[in-house]
Amino acid sequence: MCAIVGVFGNSEASKIAYYALFAMQHRGQEATGISSSNGEKITTVKKRGLVTDVFDKKALTKLKGNMAVGHNRYSTAGKESIWDTQPVYASYQLGKISIVHNGNLVNKNEVRASLIEQGAIFQSSMDTENIIHLIAKSQKKDLKNRIIEALDKIKGVYCLCIQSKTKMFAIRDRYGIRPFSLGRLKSGGYIVSSETCAFDLVEAEFIRDIKPGEMIIFKQGCHEYESIQIFEPDPHICAFEYIYLARPDSNIEGKNVYLARKEMGRALAREKKVDADLVIPVPDSGVSAALGYAQESGIPFDMGIVRNHYIGRTFIEPTQEKRDIKVKLKLSPINSLLKNKKIVVIDDSIVRGTTAKRIIKILKEAGASEVHMRIASPAIKHPCRYGIDTPSYKELISANYSTEEIKEQIKADSLDFLSIDALKTSLGNDTNYSLASFDGNYFIK
Ligand code: AMP
Repeated sequence: MCAIVGVFGNSEASKIAYYALFAMQHRGQEATGISSSNGEKITTVKKRGLVTDVFDKKALTKLKGNMAVGHNRYSTAGKESIWDTQPVYASYQLGKISIVHNGNLVNKNEVRASLIEQGAIFQSSMDTENIIHLIAKSQKKDLKNRIIEALDKIKGVYCLCIQSKTKMFAIRDRYGIRPFSLGRLKSGGYIVSSETCAFDLVEAEFIRDIKPGEMIIFKQGCHEYESIQIFEPDPHICAFEYIYLARPDSNIEGKNVYLARKEMGRALAREKKVDADLVIPVPDSGVSAALGYAQESGIPFDMGIVRNHYIGRTFIEPTQEKRDIKVKLKLSPINSLLKNKKIVVIDDSIVRGTTAKRIIKILKEAGASEVHMRIASPAIKHPCRYGIDTPSYKELISANYSTEEIKEQIKADSLDFLSIDALKTSLGNDTNYSLASFDGNYFIK
């Protein structure tokens, strides 16, 4: 998951990066960091914690210069330590660089083993450090060609922002799995960011998505950026960005995430109809799809469950016990609305089944006469290897049980998922999607 941002050519670069990271807090809540450059010196502030906790006025004043890169961390590869926070800063033969990375390298272990064999020393468990070592080892004469050579050796998912003292490189892997967009700041200069929701907050105008396999180069003193297609594009946009990860007000590849979710809800209503009195969402993740389901089915929509907003996402809790209590703390029913009603409850996805079990229980305890669960995505049968923190096969409920068996376990009156075909149709069949979690097609070999 993770969020990255790069700001170039604006005297308030670190402040703009800060706001952009704040807008993208949903993509990572474990740690955050910003590196800025004033042309002579790169300064970095990074720490475990939320954006508003890590950066105060003093920290932002320290981050001088008209370029900055930033990162919100959600750990997929790497452990929970200060060494695993980004930006990763390093000195090498041609100078100093600072790098932020969103994604997951699939050949991380092989590359690392070979680098260690050649004498490299690693400080963190992040795959991002591999890229730094490969850049440092390259014999090419300039940073651009060193980056290209390094990326040629790695396989997997990455959106990168690499900053030297005077240049910034924004790169998206050839599959374009994670979103990455380019914008022009109204106050001057450019911004690249994982999600377009950051643009609205910092008053940037969307230019376009960075293309799969593209490198964009910003240079001090140049008003225009340079674009090079460094790898042949083979687009596979992650369907899960639309289903769950991205913020509803973001647009990915020209599609608004909220509207895409609503469309999935509509498709679900057409495909997996049920007779009920009320459609209710699991807040907040099921709201957009539930609205679509209600509009398509004609069943009234209502908020039958309220969410306590002072608790983070349940999935982030590392142990099952903690996850259970957090779901309880997070969601509570409106009894007088639900009593004696036949309910269709909509969520975006089922991972381990913790949320679904708890939701059905609280709806039944609130007096619902029937609870039918509909999920606005296909069953997740395979772990993600491309940057989302989904658990292993062992913990994925749909990898181990049939829909009927899960229905029994969560004690629903019925349960159904959106089909893969309906998901594709709802997103528009105009591009390829990465559907590995649903169909097990790990296309990066
Ligand atoms: P679970 O309770 O384990 O079945 O997880 C499903 C819930 O977690 C749903 O309400 C989803 O909205 C949410 N969810 C799905 N994928 C993720 C993810 N990668 N990170 C955090 N939450 C997620």
